[in-house]
This record gives sequence, structure tokens and C-alpha cells, in this order.
Amino acid sequence: MREIKKSAKLDNVLYDVRGPVVEEAERMEAAGARVLKLNIGNPAPFDFRAPEEMVFDMSRQLVDCEGYSSAKGLFSARKAIMQYAQLKHIQGVDVDDVYTGNGVSELINLSMLALLDNGDEVLVPSPDYPLWTACVTLAGGTPVHYVCDEQAEWYPDMDDIRKKVTSRTKALVIINPNNPTGSLYPREVLQELVDIAREHNLIIFSDEIYDRIVMDGLEHVSIASMAPDVFCVTFSGLSKSHMVAGYRIGWMVLSGDKARAHDYILGVNMLCNMRMCSNVPAQSIVQTALGGHQSVQGYIVPGGRVYEQREYVYNALNDIPGVTAVKPKAGFYIFPKLDVKKFNITDDEKFTLDLLHEKRLLVVHGGGFNWKKPDHFRVVYLPRIEVLGEAMRDLGDFLSRYRQA
Ligand code: PLP
Repeated sequence: MREIKKSAKLDNVLYDVRGPVVEEAERMEAAGARVLKLNIGNPAPFDFRAPEEMVFDMSRQLVDCEGYSSAKGLFSARKAIMQYAQLKHIQGVDVDDVYTGNGVSELINLSMLALLDNGDEVLVPSPDYPLWTACVTLAGGTPVHYVCDEQAEWYPDMDDIRKKVTSRTKALVIINPNNPTGSLYPREVLQELVDIAREHNLIIFSDEIYDRIVMDGLEHVSIASMAPDVFCVTFSGLSKSHMVAGYRIGWMVLSGDKARAHDYILGVNMLCNMRMCSNVPAQSIVQTALGGHQSVQGYIVPGGRVYEQREYVYNALNDIPGVTAVKPKAGFYIFPKLDVKKFNITDDEKFTLDLLHEKRLLVVHGGGFNWKKPDHFRVVYLPRIEVLGEAMRDLGDFLSRYRQA
């Protein structure tokens, strides 16, 4: 009988945050091993709980959430998101410009599917949150990676971006705050990105899911607020800021020159209609979540869990001989560098597999974030300091002897 094969569309799609090393970790767990998973930014397993008011409000509204909502989402949710866009100084956003999704993930996929013809190019950061590269590829586009510079706080390298713009380039993706680097882009950097988009008529897709997890008193600036004339799509959601990744609620907001994007918007609407609507119970708490007291604030200041865990992991990693890391300004991740000469590393995935086998510690290799050299990996610093302490000691011990065969 004919073998059932996956579509060729998936041939070049990579999503290693949940890839082969994770499968190996699952096999080890099935055989009884305890693995510490520092591979996904999922707050709930590390005792981060949803704000009680959100759980209460969702349960109160559950009976009203049995039907489909309108394809873009409930009016109350979209109004709250529109007001949030106003607070971020994004001009000219109407309720109709707001789309809710089953997480930002669904909307990344949808926004790329609606845009790309085979061979269209999209500028994507390296390292990136790999769903961007995967969705560009799945939609038939060609991701063209521009480098972010570790020596310069992991900011995008503007010369590299400029070199890579071609007549086929349709869009520029930025991830700010960035996963995996934790970088936060200041206005000067954003201005240069806006200038490039303006000059070459590029759409800006800005993934800002970590915009409320910014530390050190810094301010997150939405790039769309600086580009009222450029067509921008800005993404955010509740998975991280409200620790409810499992509820599946995110959104995207269109702004700027919408007239130029009229046909694209029709495509987005069509795909939105085809998936009926996003999860309605989760939409019902967007207004609650975005208004009033923001409990996440308590986590990101000195004494707060996210802040203290970041401090801990940053210092602990830099104390390990052969490891250096830039301090993240936002989010839950750090992207340390390995001295590849010292450890003789030529294959970063093998490094993570060896670490998993010896120490039962799961991290993601830099290649999983479309980073081309074998010299980085990502650590999620969501666990409590006691657990991170054990993980860092294990990593240090592992690296004190490691030389890749
Ligand atoms: N964008 C970035 C940069 C992320 O790190 C993640 C999740 O880790 C997502 C999007 C997807 O988030 P969601 O849970 O809203 O689908």
C-alpha cells in the first residue's frame, strides 16, 4: 500500500523548540527519568498562576461563551485591545483593525498565509522565535535572516538588513522584546528599522508578546507608534503577561497605511472567517486582563520572581568558565554563548542532547532559533531560584568536563 507522507510544504519547516531533543526527553521521562525542562516559556508549570480575577471572570461568563463570536472576536475584547493600542500611542486603530487569535501563534500563521506567494521574501531576525521562519516557509515564502548583534545588546544589524532587501522583499519582522535574546529595542534602533521599511515599502510585523515583561525601569515602545504612515501589524497576547499560555488568546492590530493594504486585509478577513473565531471564553477576559491593576508588575521589579530569577541565571551562567551571556532586559529567556574552541563544539544540537543524557536538563540549541553558528543555546529562567541553582550547578559540572567528540 502507498505510504502516507507529510506534504512537501513541510519539508523545510523547522520548529525545534519542540523538536527531536524534546522527543528524546519525553522518551527518557516515559522510562522514569526526571527531566528539568528549560525549553519552553510556559509559566504555569513553574507555579506562575493566572490572576484570580481572570479565572473568576471567565467562570462567570462561561455560559455566555457557548456560541461562536464574530470572526475577529468579541467587541468588548477588541475594544480593550484598541484602547491598549491607544495607550501605546499607535495612531488610527479602530475596533475593526483588531483581530483576536488562538494565541499569537495562530495569527502569525494566518498573517503570513494571507500575504505570501511562492518566492516572496520576508526579513526575519536571527536568532528568531522560530515560528516566524516556519510560518513564512509554510506559506511558500522565503525567510531571509538578518543578524542581531550580540556585541550591540543583540540589536538588529541595520547594514545586514539593508544588504538583504531585494525586489521580492515584502516585509520586515521584528521581535521586540526579543525571544530568545531578551533584547529590548530603544527608539533609535526602532527609528532605523522604520526608515528601512519606509524606504523599501515593507510591511512591519512586530511581535510584542513580551511588551509587559520589561525590567530595569525601561519602557517598551511599539514600533507602530513611530510609523503612522507605514502599514504595521502588531502582535501581543495574554500567554506571558498574564501567565495563561494555555488559555490561547492573542491578538494583532493593523495600523498605518491601511488603504495600501486593502487587498491583503481582505485576505486576512477571509482566513479569519474560515477558522470561525478564536476561543471565546479566553476572549471574554481580555477586558479584565488589560484594565486596572497589572499583577505582572510585581514579578518584574527587584524582589519579584522574574526579576530575581533573571539576575540569578545571568550571574550563574557568566560564572561558568567558557560561557558568556548578555543580560536580558525583558521576557523569560537568556541566550548564552559557548566557547566553541574550549568545548570543541561543532554541533549545538548534539551539545543539548549530551547535556540531556548526562544531566537530564533540557535546553534548546541556538540552531533551533535559526542561529547559524553552533555557539549558543537558550535557557528559560521561569523555575524558582532553588531549581535554577541546581540546573546551573549541573550545567557547570557538565561543562567542566565537556569536549564534544
Ligand atoms: N511570539 C513569541 C516571541 C513567543 O515567544 C511566543 C511563545 O513563546 C509566541 C509568539 C506565541 O505565543 P502564543 O501563546 O500567544 O501563541
